[in-house]
Amino acid sequence: MILFKKSAAAGSYLQGIHRAQKTTGFVPTMGALHQGHLSLIEASKLQNPVTIASIFVNPTQFNNKSDFEKYPITIERDIELLEAAGCDALFLPTVDEVYPNGIAQTQTYDLGFLETILEGQFRPGHFQGVCKVMHRLLSILPATNLYMGQKDYQQCMVVKRLLSLINSRTALHTCPTLREPDGLAMSSRNMRLNATERQQAVAISKALFTIKDQLQQQPPAALINNATQLLLQHQFKIDYVTIADANTLQPINSWNGQQPLVALIAAFQNEVRLIDNLALN
Ligand code: AMP
Repeated sequence: MILFKKSAAAGSYLQGIHRAQKTTGFVPTMGALHQGHLSLIEASKLQNPVTIASIFVNPTQFNNKSDFEKYPITIERDIELLEAAGCDALFLPTVDEVYPNGIAQTQTYDLGFLETILEGQFRPGHFQGVCKVMHRLLSILPATNLYMGQKDYQQCMVVKRLLSLINSRTALHTCPTLREPDGLAMSSRNMRLNATERQQAVAISKALFTIKDQLQQQPPAALINNATQLLLQHQFKIDYVTIADANTLQPINSWNGQQPLVALIAAFQNEVRLIDNLALN
């Protein structure tokens, strides 16, 4: 695996691959890698002769300073995992390399309704930061294909919108969420859970799978109420439990049996904020 720290070198590498008429797959991450990240590398390798990952803990997408400061960093192990997964190149830039003109938000991305709900509502500025870093990363690495996880459902919708706003030719591929054997969605933040919190954390995926199982039997409000109770019993502090249209993320109060739905949860085990979601039908 080739390691690039400089944007110019990473960009010329990518251009060289494209000049040889080969496609490229790009997997952006913030490191502290787990099998969920590696499944994106695998998806890219199936569709492209060359896969490039990036590891960059993006300061502009953290609305909470302590969340940024405590974000897990396991770079040596990440490099080993990427190499073992057959990743061809890793872009590992500094903050200055990604933001040579500083981290202040100079451009605002019009995300409309998407930015007013769920993660947009509870993490003000987060998606502007996501757009800022993705815009910059894609200008350095305009790969043929981009692989992101459904674990961050709303983020995938935001990035799809970004690609259209910036007239990017990169195609977004949204990949399934990988879970631990007990159902907990894999996440870098899981490393920050102590043993008790880790046990309680499984209530999020239990709540989501129960909503899915009960969808035909109970109205959305009752499903949300049951999920909320389960989370509270497991000491969660809840940001949201929502059932929404899978295409627009507009929350629903009633269901016609046809509309595609997704259930989404964000909640804290003490200091650690976890999110997860499940397509319901
Ligand atoms: P992160 O390092 O958390 O920014 O995640 C980098 C990419 O990995 C994002 O596209 C995430 O959606 C994706 N990802 C994170 N967790 C999972 C998971 N459990 N399964 C699949 N993809 C994931």
